[in-house]
Amino acid sequence: MALLEVSGLEVAYGRVNALRGVDLRVEEGQIVTVLGANGAGKSTLLRAILGAVPPKAGGIAFAGRDVTREPPHARIGGGLVLVPEGRRILISLSVEENLLLGAHMRADTQKVRTEMDAIYDRFPNLAERRHMLASCLSGGEQQMLAIGRAMLAKPRLMMLDEPSLGLSPLFVSKLFDLIRELNRDGLSVLLVEQNTGKALACAHHATVLELGRVVMAGDPATLAADPRLQEAYLGEG
Ligand code: ATP
Repeated sequence: MALLEVSGLEVAYGRVNALRGVDLRVEEGQIVTVLGANGAGKSTLLRAILGAVPPKAGGIAFAGRDVTREPPHARIGGGLVLVPEGRRILISLSVEENLLLGAHMRADTQKVRTEMDAIYDRFPNLAERRHMLASCLSGGEQQMLAIGRAMLAKPRLMMLDEPSLGLSPLFVSKLFDLIRELNRDGLSVLLVEQNTGKALACAHHATVLELGRVVMAGDPATLAADPRLQEAYLGEG
């Protein structure tokens, strides 16, 4: 049984059909990447999986449960977590306060504390600045903070929406190392990226969206060698 199973998903914003019958699976332990040009429907797909936009048709099953009609907080509580595009860090709060937002639905305070210490061990830059305003962080550090915050929500599947956007090449490499590391530690990942080359290099499976439809899906190495994909996206990233 797949960890996430999206079938025939359709989402419309008024008359704009953003998703037109999308199928997608994430097996436990996988990194799956969703690629596509601006406006292809990638963010809409992640938002629909989280429950932030209602589907017109189709279904979403997570961890063996039909969650299509569940509100976002129930899905998040079940381990489905989104790191949104643009990170959505609250710059008037401290680094630590931002991190704690990820744990706001948890009652196991002691465990949260231990996990927070583990996050600080993983990201020493955040530990050093824990009492400073999040606005003091660089773009790369803010992305780490957004991922740390998502980790505190105890995800089984972490969805990342264009995490490398606007980061320096050094931070982009660090980010992809981190995604691989989290995956090795057991986290399943659904990754939307414009950095096609790097995303294909770390994923177990890839899906390409065009105008709300899946136009290619399969093994990342095969897709990377496909002339259609090379023409459209590779060489950019
Ligand atoms: P990007 O990389 O630019 O974020 P994307 O692949 O994530 O692109 P979406 O943001 O999901 O694509 O957009 C899919 C389609 O839905 C586009 O045609 C977009 O203009 C439209 N759309 C997205 N959000 C809304 C909204 N809130 N209201 C109306 N139309 C929207």
